[in-house]
Amino acid sequence: MTTPDTHPCDVCGALPTARMSFTALQGIVLVRRMRFTRGHFCRDCGLRARKEANSYTLKFGWWSVSGWLATPITLISNTIRAGELNKLPAPVPPAPAQA
Ligand SMILES: [Zn+2]
Repeated sequence: MTTPDTHPCDVCGALPTARMSFTALQGIVLVRRMRFTRGHFCRDCGLRARKEANSYTLKFGWWSVSGWLATPITLISNTIRAGELNKLPAPVPPAPAQA
């Protein structure tokens, strides 16, 4: 289990976050190309990153010989990882800077 992190969200700066990695898969006939999105994400930004990775994989993951197997594995793996984000409380935006 991932514990909430004190590192601010890499996208919006909110807390709490969890360190996450999502994979987007592209099949190209005989090969597969993987693109990784890694970082500290608050719940909302992490779920958005997971959605983008899964949407890309759904569109482009199937187009290789092994895509019929690699695509569902990638989608399931991303979904399982994102389960940790659902356990995080609602993100709290960073306090405005003092002048
Ligand atoms: Zn965020």
